[in-house]
Amino acid sequence: MDFPQLQAALTHRGLPAYRFRQVYSCATRGLAMDYSEMTELPAVLRRTLAAEAPLRELEQAERQDSADGTIKLRFATADGFPLESVAMRHAGRRTVCVSSQSGCPLACTFCATGDMGLGRNLRAGEIAEQVLVLARILRDAGERVSNVVLMGMGEPFLNYDAVLEACRLLNDPDGFGLGARRIAISTAGWVPGIERLASEPLQVKLALSLHAPTDELRRQLMPVARRYPLPVLMEACRGYRASTGRRVFVEYLLLDGVNDSDTHAAQLAELLGDDGFHVNLIAYNPTGAGYRGSPPERVAGFASVLAAHGLEASYRRSHGADIKAACGQLASDGVRELRRARRQARAGV
Ligand code: SAH
Repeated sequence: MDFPQLQAALTHRGLPAYRFRQVYSCATRGLAMDYSEMTELPAVLRRTLAAEAPLRELEQAERQDSADGTIKLRFATADGFPLESVAMRHAGRRTVCVSSQSGCPLACTFCATGDMGLGRNLRAGEIAEQVLVLARILRDAGERVSNVVLMGMGEPFLNYDAVLEACRLLNDPDGFGLGARRIAISTAGWVPGIERLASEPLQVKLALSLHAPTDELRRQLMPVARRYPLPVLMEACRGYRASTGRRVFVEYLLLDGVNDSDTHAAQLAELLGDDGFHVNLIAYNPTGAGYRGSPPERVAGFASVLAAHGLEASYRRSHGADIKAACGQLASDGVRELRRARRQARAGV
């Protein structure tokens, strides 16, 4: 999936430019998993490329299938860092949720990945490859990826360049060809990333994990709030709205007795105002961190206070909880691998 490396290998052999386009198209549009599937290439070239510019960088360590059709893949990078990706099947949609980092440094107190610490940033090829592998699995079942969300492990804006490069690759009409509006980047509130995205030509969607309407509460849940308090964060979101004309999708996790009272809902409505935001209420998936999800009647109560303030909210149902593939549950079992990979990286292995 390192296309520059592939191009270099081809140019080095003096091969014509159409060879690169052929391989690129087979790998992205054709979802080939291996050079051996590219039968239009001469066999010798297929073997050479497999040795010099491997098509796949990630090793698939495990696949789990949920009763609701959700598929979770656990991967390891070539240097041993764990990551996970999920495909969800909603009524008419097939949403693929991918990781931008192995682990995450932001340490949100309710999140399993936050508990692991950071392994390393993923490269653009490693991010896009997660989508292509799941797209192939879905295609073999007669289905197509309709949406990609960067809501797996990691904070995308701490790996901005690779994330945007992966998005451009997935969007390329000569390749995978997924519409930019079908790609969403989710941030815990890393303001410099929001500001950069505001002036990005690629029209991807922005989701903000807010989870609290006041700085005092937000700081307890998300340490990143100490660095970027709400006035600064909201200013960045309004700037994004002003320069792109696009709404920000606010994610609000409902934690029983923590952030789910009527007062919190009213504060949230006040904070967001009546324009430029859409609220997704998210069911909390237990991770062992000691929080509980809000009961259904509290979710309904919270949503009705928002509605009374003129704020539309949707409720995001949980998928794949039985295989620990639901929001925030990724790679809770990967801590050991991450530590090992980190040690090896330090030792220069
Ligand atoms: N770092 C980015 C993207 C990855 S997290 C971000 O914070 O947005 C994707 C979403 O899952 C975030 O909204 C995050 O707050 C949420 N999440 C984390 N742990 C969760 C859990 N246990 N249950 C439900 N959602 C969770």
